[in-house]
Amino acid sequence: AKSAGKDQFLFFDPVMQSDLISMHQTENELRIALENNQLEPFYQAQVDAQGGLIGAEVLIRWNHPERGLLAPAAFIGVAESSGLIVPMGYQVFAMACTQLVAWSGCEFARKLTLAVNISARQFEEADFTARIASILSSSGANPELLKLEITESTLARDIESVSLKMLELRKLGITFSLDDFGTGYSSLTYLKRLPIKQLKIDRCFVRDVLVDHDDKAIIVTIIALAATLGIDVIAEGVEEQEQQALLVSVGCESFQGFLFGKPESQEVFEQRFTAP
Ligand code: C2E
Ligand code: CA
Ligand code: CA
Ligand code: CA
Repeated sequence: AKSAGKDQFLFFDPVMQSDLISMHQTENELRIALENNQLEPFYQAQVDAQGGLIGAEVLIRWNHPERGLLAPAAFIGVAESSGLIVPMGYQVFAMACTQLVAWSGCEFARKLTLAVNISARQFEEADFTARIASILSSSGANPELLKLEITESTLARDIESVSLKMLELRKLGITFSLDDFGTGYSSLTYLKRLPIKQLKIDRCFVRDVLVDHDDKAIIVTIIALAATLGIDVIAEGVEEQEQQALLVSVGCESFQGFLFGKPESQEVFEQRFTAP
């Protein structure tokens, strides 16, 4: 057995120390992943009230050589803190553009929009709009079919510069969705000033909407607010038929959630929507 007094001589909490090691390891491996194309976009369907496919959110997965397919929870934090989220973000956007072009001849994807998550760190880059514009033109993707999902934390940084960048991208045809809406501090001024096409009602309000009157009231309010401002609304995290029915009854037009499909690889997504 180990000596009972051993721990008191450690400068670091052993748990913290191993967290640090694994953070550095993840960062190094993530660098390699970016170079070796280990990141793979998954697609989660977005549907209208009739269940018709209208778009997909691009959700990144990491095909780790030893650990298998990893969800963002395993690496997004390290990507953010190391700054690797910036090159990663361009890679994801480029893959989304390439996929849009590849799907452009397919009947199921004719009007399909792809929503790409953009980190606040990416928006801080001085050449963000130029890089996005250059990826767009080299891929030949239709900007009207690309939606950038940003969160309130992006807006909370440097609103003047963020707003300039958003307006520039909007001029190219790109639209914006405000993700996780209702969970941060959104100033209503932002909604009026910025070119925001869509509010994405956070999953936390959808989850208990059938039983929690507060959650339902918040959703009703968000939908009314959006209608007043001429902004579309999509609900995320829809898992049950009854949730969708209630959301439809209060005026929600678009939906995303396990009820309509989990995030799927390109092959699975394509097969599901092209199957006869
Ligand atoms: P998010 O943008 O809020 O994405 C929605 C998350 O909810 C996804 O988790 C999705 O799989 C999950 N989800 C969708 N429908 C349901 C449902 O009905 N029930 C439940 N319980 N969950 C549902 P995922 O794929 O693990 O992604 C987690 C987060 O990682 C995303 O949250 C986003 O913040 C981040 N992320 C993913 N891909 C990217 C990316 O390419 N770039 C950046 N910057 N962040 C990304
Ligand atoms: Ca999102
Ligand atoms: Ca979200
Ligand atoms: Ca409550």
